Amino acid sequence: MQSDIMTIHTQVTTASRLADLDMENIQFGKIFADHMVSIDYANGEWQTPQILPYGPIELSPATAALHYGQALFEGMKAYKTVDGQVVLFRPQANWARMNESAKRLCMPEIPEELFMESLKQLIALDANWVPGKVGNSLYIRPFMFASDALVGVRPSETYKFMIFCSPASQYYAEPVRVKIEEKYTRSVEGGAGYAKAAGNYGASLYPTKLAQEKGFHQVIWTDGKEHNFIEESGTMNVMFVIDGKLITPALSSSILAGITRDSVLQLARDWGMPVEERRISVQEIVDAHAAGTLEDAFGTGTAATIAPIKSIMYKEHEMELPAVANRTFSNKVAAELDKIRHGQAEDVHGWMVPVQ
Ligand SMILES: *Cc1c(COP(=O)(O)O)cnc(C)c1O
Repeated sequence: MQSDIMTIHTQVTTASRLADLDMENIQFGKIFADHMVSIDYANGEWQTPQILPYGPIELSPATAALHYGQALFEGMKAYKTVDGQVVLFRPQANWARMNESAKRLCMPEIPEELFMESLKQLIALDANWVPGKVGNSLYIRPFMFASDALVGVRPSETYKFMIFCSPASQYYAEPVRVKIEEKYTRSVEGGAGYAKAAGNYGASLYPTKLAQEKGFHQVIWTDGKEHNFIEESGTMNVMFVIDGKLITPALSSSILAGITRDSVLQLARDWGMPVEERRISVQEIVDAHAAGTLEDAFGTGTAATIAPIKSIMYKEHEMELPAVANRTFSNKVAAELDKIRHGQAEDVHGWMVPVQ
């Protein structure tokens, strides 16, 4: 961007759909806010950002992203504070991660100002779509894809970056039954597991479907070499409390660096809880369960914040965990994050960014 006063071409809708939204009964992911951001990349640079009425886009059947998977996304949320301000949770972290994903997929990085300004202006314009109730939010989906119409395997020369939003109610995370995955892998060392690449999701659906057919909600992914070490839980990072210590797999090329993960670890450290980011073997979990020291297990991610794990299946043996209501840490950290996001607790780390 040459100038610091960025011009965003905005076309305001003449047919707002806000009146159709039932704030008391939000169906996640099916209803989209009035506007969207659209920015094209061509001739080696980002073109004028546009905010347009939400709607379909036209694509050539030869669009590169549809064939060779040069596509990435982000997931974040806007919240309404108790005094009515609209705030974003750690948006710079999403911007930085998006650029990490972009590098891995040979896609162009997006300048911070372009990402932040188009995001803020979109959310400010659709501020009335941010639900007011504590626990509810506006889910924000930034994404980018290769838009060259060319059937040839090489990085695309043109891209489209877009952002749209969908209102979300308090995600009641039913405690999940999970299965340790010993056959399939989500990602391996040297792969693209740390990137929020669309293709990672496509390839995870089949093993997840097989687990669901056996009555589990999700799989716990393990390392691709020996299936001995824990990686993630479904599309979330995974954490355990063993004997008063918070333990989670260390980041690597096969693990997605969750912003919720980072926030939970930070709060635990603030509270003086011992935190370990390291390799965790499946055997360690089995042993802790047998010794009665496995106090808590949960997934972390933007959609649910904390998703408690009810039981873990490993080699025909199902390990039951303590009742969710009795879990001190995960309940406390979920409540604290909710309070920070809605302006009911002090934001000591400067995580909340107002849109106006
Ligand atoms: C997005 C994602 C997460 C969670 O990241 P957050 O920033 O906390 O939402 C974890 N694992 C995978 C594989 C993901 O795609």
